[in-house]
Amino acid sequence: MSERFDVTIIGGGTTGMYAAFYSGMRDLKTKVIEYQPEPGGKVSFFYPEKKIYDVGGFPGITGEDLVHEVKKQTDLVNPTVSTEEKIHSIEKQEDGSFILENEHGEQHFSKAVIIASGMGTFDMQPLQVNGSEKFEEEQIHYSIQNLNQYEGKKVAVISQSRVGIDWSLALEKVSDEVHLVNCGDEFKAVYENDVDQLNASSVQTHLNQEVEQLHGDEEMMTSLTLKDGLEIEVDHILVYEGLQIEKSMYAEWGLETEKGRIPVGTDMCSNIEGIFVAGDAAIYPSKTMLIASGFTEAMAAVNSAAMYLDPKAKSQVYSTVVYKYNT
Ligand SMILES: Cc1cc2nc3c(=O)[nH]c(=O)nc-3n(C[C@H](O)[C@H](O)[C@H](O)COP(=O)(O)OP(=O)(O)OC[C@H]3O[C@@H](n4cnc5c(N)ncnc54)[C@H](O)[C@@H]3O)c2cc1C
Repeated sequence: MSERFDVTIIGGGTTGMYAAFYSGMRDLKTKVIEYQPEPGGKVSFFYPEKKIYDVGGFPGITGEDLVHEVKKQTDLVNPTVSTEEKIHSIEKQEDGSFILENEHGEQHFSKAVIIASGMGTFDMQPLQVNGSEKFEEEQIHYSIQNLNQYEGKKVAVISQSRVGIDWSLALEKVSDEVHLVNCGDEFKAVYENDVDQLNASSVQTHLNQEVEQLHGDEEMMTSLTLKDGLEIEVDHILVYEGLQIEKSMYAEWGLETEKGRIPVGTDMCSNIEGIFVAGDAAIYPSKTMLIASGFTEAMAAVNSAAMYLDPKAKSQVYSTVVYKYNT
């Protein structure tokens, strides 16, 4: 860890991984530090199976495939990627470089830093029903990693958010029966169209309901009972009851913040010279919180980092006829 990098990127979501590619492409010695066991950020965590239609050049690609393509591109420049590590502090040194420290007090050394850590780290809110622990992993899940697993199965989705609707509609195509259980009387953060699609589907929606009890033996869950006494046969339960988010400590790191994000200009510079920002972590007028915006911002952040490291560096690369890659 004592090795010093030119650029260290906090966060291995789509933005951070793409920033690592671009930084490597500009011949900067690059490291990515990611909290989750695998890079991919929100796309891998929330919607690996969902089709994404608004990334240029991909007329419909699943989250998983997009992350795979981004990783493939990042591998071209072979950056150092460290996972299951959470950065807790950043200290600027007198020589303009930085020491980043993780939750165990281990240090990373870098001449410049790119923050691509979104709003922070996330873990799923667990299902809180007596005895649910024994069915975790096998039958209770917090994301759809493999849609085929639900083929011909009876599935209950527990959620009051748009994510629950997304999942239910995806499951409907392969599962035998889909129930969507919402503890409120409406869905949160939805577009009108989402609810229309849900209502037009075969998904059985249960509003103002909660899971009261799970049934089965030590080995297998077979059904659940809702608050109103209705018993539903289930093979799997998918839960999206929100997240346990640990917000990034940007303000504690000395960064200006605006509603938890870091305000930047078009150069993606933060208020601390040498720290740059891209993706969902960044905010500026008319900012779109989308994958493609993160890619563009990553390029600008890397270009600014390159000029921080060497004021004579090119402000941007106009053409990528790079002969060193064998693709
Ligand atoms: C349900 C849903 C559907 C969406 N659909 C679309 C869509 O169709 N099209 C589209 O373009 N966008 C979509 N988005 C938005 C898109 O997912 C985000 O804009 C994009 O993922 C942001 O990428 P990012 O890399 O900037 O941040 P993130 O994906 O949030 O990645 C940040 C990474 O940083 C890590 N991290 C955080 N703090 C630390 C730390 N201290 N130390 C180490 N690691 C840390 C996190 O673990 C995470 O992996 C959707 C979002 C959601 C929630």
